Amino acid sequence: ILKGKTAVITGSNSGIGLGVAIELARAGADIVLNSFTDRPEDHALAARIGAEHGITARYIAADMADGAACRALVERAGGCDILVNNAGIQHVAPIDEFPVAQWDRIIAINLSSAFHTTAAALPGMRARGWGRIVNIASAHGLTASPYKSAYIAAKHGVVGLSKTTALETAGQGITCNAICPGYVLTPLVEAQIPDQMKVHNMDRDTVIREVMLTRQPSRQFATVEQIGGTTVYLCSPAADQVTGTTISVDGGWTAL
Ligand code: NAD
Repeated sequence: ILKGKTAVITGSNSGIGLGVAIELARAGADIVLNSFTDRPEDHALAARIGAEHGITARYIAADMADGAACRALVERAGGCDILVNNAGIQHVAPIDEFPVAQWDRIIAINLSSAFHTTAAALPGMRARGWGRIVNIASAHGLTASPYKSAYIAAKHGVVGLSKTTALETAGQGITCNAICPGYVLTPLVEAQIPDQMKVHNMDRDTVIREVMLTRQPSRQFATVEQIGGTTVYLCSPAADQVTGTTISVDGGWTAL
C-alpha cells in the first residue's frame, strides 16, 4: 500500500526504529535508515532490507542532536513522504542531581530533532499534497515516573508538537500523530535495567516484573513489530482523518 512513498526513520539502525523501517518496507515503502554512526554494517543493514523486500533502502548518517544535521537528513533523502521521528535516548537521575549536559542532549535528540525534521519535510509534503508524520513518543508522553525528568519533558513535548503539526497541516493531505509505546524490549530498555536495579536494589527479574512492567497491566512487553504495524496503519487510507492524536501501544498502562 505504500509503494512509491519514501519513508525517513530517524534512529533506525536498532530497536523500534529498525522495526518500524522493516514494517514500512514490508508495506512497499522505500526507506531511509539513520543513526549518528557511519559504519559499513549500517549500510549493509539497509542493503539487506532493500533486497529482502524489493524496495530501495538507504542509510544516511546524521546526528539528531544537531538541528542542522536533522534538516540535512531530510534534504539528502530527496523527498520524504513519511517521516518517523524515533531517535531517542534516556538518562535516569533525580532532578537535583540531573547532569545539565544530559538534560540538553535528551531535549535535543528526543524533542528538538522532530521540530527540525518536520520543518524540513513539510514543504515537500505540501507540494505533493500527501504526507505522514509519525512521532514515537511514549507512555511517558502522557504520564510521569520519578528520575526521568528530561525524557518525560521531551516526550510530553513531542505529543504537543504532534498536535500543533496536525493543526498546521489539517486538510492538506498531511497527518501527524504520536505513538505512545509502553515498555518495548529494545537496547534502550535493556540499558535501563542496571540503573533501575541500583535505584531499587533489586535483581534483574524482580525489577522487570515489579518495577518496569508494574505500570503495564498486561505484564508483557510490546514488540517492535507492533509499533511498526501501528505506523503502517497511520500511513494507510484508513487513517486519513486520524491526526493530532496519540495511539497508545502499552498493554493498558495509561488506562490505569
Ligand atoms: P534504541 O536505543 O534501541 O534505539 C534508539 C535509536 O536511536 C538507535 O538506532 C540509535 O542509534 C539512535 N540514536 C541515538 N542517538 C542518536 C543521535 N544522536 N542521532 C541519531 N540517532 C540516534 O531504543 P528504542 O527503545 O528502540 O527507542 C526508540 C524510540 O522509542 C525512542 O524515542 C524511545 O524513547 C521510544 N520508546 C521506547 C520504548 C521502549 O520501551 N523501548 C518505550 C517508549 C518509547
